[in-house]
Amino acid sequence: MKQHDVIVIGGGPAGYVAAIRAAQLGLDTACIERETVCGGTCLRIGCIPSKALLESSWRYIEAQHELKTHGVKTGAVELELNVMMERKNTIVESLTKGITGLFKKNKVTRYEGHGRLDGPGKVVIEGKDAEELKAKHIILATGSVSSALPGIEFDDKGRVGTSTEALDYPEPPEHLVVIGAGYIGLEMGSVWRRLGSRVKVLEYLPRILPGMDAELAREAMKEFERQGIEFQIGAEVLGARVDGKQCVVEVKDEEPIRCDRVLVAVGRTPYTEGLGLDTLGIQTDKRGRVVVDEHYTTSAADVYAIGDIIVFQDGYAPPMLAHKSEDEGIACVERIVTGYGHVNYDAIPAVCYTHPEIGSVGKTEDALRDAGIDYRKGTFPFQANGRARSMGETQGKVKVLSDAKTDRILGVHIIGPRAGDLIAEAAVAMEFGASSEDLARCCHAHPTLAECIKEAALATDGRAIHI
Ligand code: NAD
Repeated sequence: MKQHDVIVIGGGPAGYVAAIRAAQLGLDTACIERETVCGGTCLRIGCIPSKALLESSWRYIEAQHELKTHGVKTGAVELELNVMMERKNTIVESLTKGITGLFKKNKVTRYEGHGRLDGPGKVVIEGKDAEELKAKHIILATGSVSSALPGIEFDDKGRVGTSTEALDYPEPPEHLVVIGAGYIGLEMGSVWRRLGSRVKVLEYLPRILPGMDAELAREAMKEFERQGIEFQIGAEVLGARVDGKQCVVEVKDEEPIRCDRVLVAVGRTPYTEGLGLDTLGIQTDKRGRVVVDEHYTTSAADVYAIGDIIVFQDGYAPPMLAHKSEDEGIACVERIVTGYGHVNYDAIPAVCYTHPEIGSVGKTEDALRDAGIDYRKGTFPFQANGRARSMGETQGKVKVLSDAKTDRILGVHIIGPRAGDLIAEAAVAMEFGASSEDLARCCHAHPTLAECIKEAALATDGRAIHI
């Protein structure tokens, strides 16, 4: 029976990063992944391919509508969907190969197959690299799968399907119905709208993007509507199925909707099937999430869990985000080796890569209001920013929320150009416990979009210069 210091089950962002960090810290490390390549949902069928398509589809829109405002005449613009898809696939391939390279460089042993716990310190691999292994520490990082809904009948051609199929439609559906106005629904809905589909998004709640700042979500919805995406808010979906050449979606108290494809994007469910949790009596909650303490230790000694599958003992389930999972991987391993390791869940940025992008970190204004926290708010519009003007991307704003007494930054929310990159500055500031005064006193290069963050920080105290 082969022995390792650490075995990581799952090679997504949580697992492969944990494995690399463990190897860096001198542990004999193995990573078991059932797919032929590592990278998990994020690299193979999530963040990366969707960003590739978002980028390409936006270029298509720009070529049709935006370039002429720059004095660039293009002539007829045509879509070559197969080229767009090949580009996306090449990006995914190169990044997954990159992980193989990183494993080699760091001497992480990679096993291909399904890993399963088999009692204390034991892991069985079924599949290509079938093997029985022993380890002092075992880290579970098996991720999540798309959630289903009662009444939804997925079909094997993906006409009623998930984001996995929506990354590979052979042609733009004439009419796509998206169930769920979260990250996936809006990102993939945007892609296909840009490529010519009629897109209708059905959302159960009275708003889109639950969890994001409500003011920004309202602004975003208006803009998505302007782009031609239709919304039905407060829609309770009762079922969806293929019906002949079409699909039918049933919504409570409404006429059934007929369409060509249905994308079900109502969240993700932790994936722990066949993981052998029962062989160690590992505690899970009602939703099948693995319960961990602040060091990511499960109820079994020397077995840890990170990423999409976890819930903390106090019931807090962190957002299912790749970057959060990577940080947990590092914190978990560093804690095993050094005794220290920590993730600050108050400063995890979240980004929706639509157009405009939305970036968010810390508390939303609604959350502060609900909690009765006295806060100050400063906003600054991209409209008043020189770089945004020269880019022709003037929609949106930055909103900084700070504690009314201490001025400590409590949240920053950005809707507008490159919000996903800009939010990093706010996350760094929050991680260092900065005040809005700190942010405002940092010199920001001119002309840059980041100046809007400085101005919004100044605006918390009525001192913005350019508005
Ligand atoms: P989500 O939780 O972001 O959104 C799901 C939406 O579906 C919610 O708005 C919810 O109210 C709605 N919904 C639930 N049941 C419904 C019903 N019966 N009828 C209509 N609407 C219903 O989930 P997602 O968009 O599926 O994304 C899954 C996970 O992947 C999320 O945890 C997300 O964080 C992650 N993700 C992140 C990014 C990113 O960071 N940009 C992108 C894609 C996915």
